[in-house]
Amino acid sequence: MKMKPTFFLFFVLASVASLKNPSPVLADEVGHSKSNQCVRALFSDSWKRLIDSVYSKIIERVPQPNVVRTSAVTQKQIIQADLEVRKTLSALGVVVDETKLPPYLSELVATQENPEGRIRFDQTPGVREAFFGTILRVLRLPKPALKSDPNALALTHPDMPSALQDLKKLGYDFYIDTSLRFADASSYFDGEFGMIGIQPNTPWHVFIHELQHAKWNRFLESVISFDALQSKIESGKTLKELLSLQDRELLDPEILQKLESLLKQGVPENGIDETLAVGVQLKALDLPSYNHTYQRFFRYARRHQVWDLKAAGPLSETQKGSLRRAAVEELLGSEASVSGVLTSKNPYLIGILAATVVILTDERARRIFLKLLDGTWVVLPMKSS
Ligand SMILES: [Zn+2]
Repeated sequence: MKMKPTFFLFFVLASVASLKNPSPVLADEVGHSKSNQCVRALFSDSWKRLIDSVYSKIIERVPQPNVVRTSAVTQKQIIQADLEVRKTLSALGVVVDETKLPPYLSELVATQENPEGRIRFDQTPGVREAFFGTILRVLRLPKPALKSDPNALALTHPDMPSALQDLKKLGYDFYIDTSLRFADASSYFDGEFGMIGIQPNTPWHVFIHELQHAKWNRFLESVISFDALQSKIESGKTLKELLSLQDRELLDPEILQKLESLLKQGVPENGIDETLAVGVQLKALDLPSYNHTYQRFFRYARRHQVWDLKAAGPLSETQKGSLRRAAVEELLGSEASVSGVLTSKNPYLIGILAATVVILTDERARRIFLKLLDGTWVVLPMKSS
């Protein structure tokens, strides 16, 4: 693979400039420099327009997370899957009990009570009652595995017993949902029913993603309203000043730190929720940021941030910045990739970065990894020639 030398040089120069010159240089200085005022104003205005248009293009192309696909499922398929799940559980040594709780699929299927449902359901003729699967209560976990592997089954993970105790302490339950094979989620946390639902094959890193949602839900119920917390953090207060020790202990110290910075950036509630959940997953997986799995989860969280910010109505200047940042991070697929440039607080450089990325990204794009002077990595898609 060969990279285009002009772009490479352009980007290296831009990156180095950002590190050597960390303050905004054009628009913000217009008022101070009388001699070049007109030239600078003209230059900065066209720059600003260019950057705005580049950003709106980037923001536009960020896909919506969690799009429910329209599909069809038959009663026969659901019965078959339900049976297979029970067999798998028994082979694993998991002891379960039936509940009358509604399985996840029943929320997605279009029925008389739920005409909005996106999945078409074909009931077996002659069968009176529709069957959407079963929620099974776990009475006994299998013997835990010896090795702690984030990609291995949650049900046999050595930390599962203590994680379920934590969940119980929060007041939530844990179930196996036999309908999930046909749903749009591999597992879920449901605040309304106060439960986590997984499949027998759900890996540990996915389970702890849901566990983080549960912790967040309890945290939100315990603290003052989310909006009040956000506005107080934006006005310069810290979580330590605002929350009781008891509330702070609901989240891990690392998560609290992340939460404070996301609140400062004006990211709305759901965007924060998914970012924290993905953060827990990424930490457990301990993957380098150029890894495909890492980037998939990272992007998923950024998509939530972008769409939640877009839906948040009139945005503050900080939120506008956060929206741009989340969109660029989604595009590049790595936090490290942009932190080196974005922390320079130089809006023109961010524009250059964004423009470079837009120019270079197409189906044939490959990635190059560039280490900046401050030690952060830039992941840059490059056309091969
Ligand atoms: Zn999630």
